[in-house]
Amino acid sequence: MKEVKDLVLMCSQIGKNIELTQAGGANASVKNSRSMWIKASGFNLSDVNCKSGYVLVNHPLIRESFEHGSAESEEQSRDLIKFSILDSNGGLKPSMEVGFHSYLPRCVLHTHPIFLNSISGLSDPASLLSSLGLDDVAVVDYFRPGFNLAKQVYSSFLSLNAKGCRYPSFILRNHGLLVSGQTPKDCLEKTLIISNAAKSLVLDRTNLVLPPYSPPVPHIHDGMSGFLGSVIGDSLSGVYMFPDAVVFLEDLKRGKGKASVLDGRLFYQLSEKSSRNIDEVLYAHNHVLNYSRVLGEIKPLSVRDVEELVNMEEEKYRKRSVEE
Ligand SMILES: [Zn+2]
Repeated sequence: MKEVKDLVLMCSQIGKNIELTQAGGANASVKNSRSMWIKASGFNLSDVNCKSGYVLVNHPLIRESFEHGSAESEEQSRDLIKFSILDSNGGLKPSMEVGFHSYLPRCVLHTHPIFLNSISGLSDPASLLSSLGLDDVAVVDYFRPGFNLAKQVYSSFLSLNAKGCRYPSFILRNHGLLVSGQTPKDCLEKTLIISNAAKSLVLDRTNLVLPPYSPPVPHIHDGMSGFLGSVIGDSLSGVYMFPDAVVFLEDLKRGKGKASVLDGRLFYQLSEKSSRNIDEVLYAHNHVLNYSRVLGEIKPLSVRDVEELVNMEEEKYRKRSVEE
């Protein structure tokens, strides 16, 4: 099926690039007029293949709830999403961002680019963002992922459409990038153009080099085996620049997660895959913090934003799936 092939193509091209996606954080979809194939929650992009890692949904049903303003709360939207599932592919759930996928054009790709997030998490990112020289891109303020964010993106989508833009892109502040297109190639190109423009600008302004990522290594400490990961930096200080940092690091900060601090690094008592997922988010967050602090005054997520993320049902589900 062409849609599935296109979905797998987008996921596989981006899935291994840690500068664009960490853990199961990014998502993609392809639709026809009746149905949409969307990455499943908790799956890494690189794990999506022709048979698994995606869910089939009746996206017109979800789209209409934005068009008519009929879904008014997160709870209502949650029920509607459950009802819209046509094939759960063995009990999977669609990405929690299924809302904005539902009304955007045929192909949609959402990523968490480290360099773009280093700019969009500043108190005043406007001049740096405009110097990227991007067309057909709207900047959307931070909103809680899921229904709240999808509602906000919808109003930016309508404004861009009204200006004649058929395939808009969105910079989601303190979160990431969202692009749309007719083909996977359109989405992949836009993602790379925008994230590379952000990378050049950040490296140019900060003179900080991004060291290559090295995954956690097997380690034994006090007779316990696990995986030794990246340095913690300031990432457990309670300052968070994007939602996944809260979802994956806040438990550790509160002393509840299955990892401990060893010589300034995280020692994971988890499977290799789960250790790697958390570690990728830690790596990205350290760099976003480092870069944005050199670029200007930062605007981290508020205490309220953090509490909301910790308590979100969808984020708890995603975290459980990623840690299994
Ligand atoms: Zn996201």
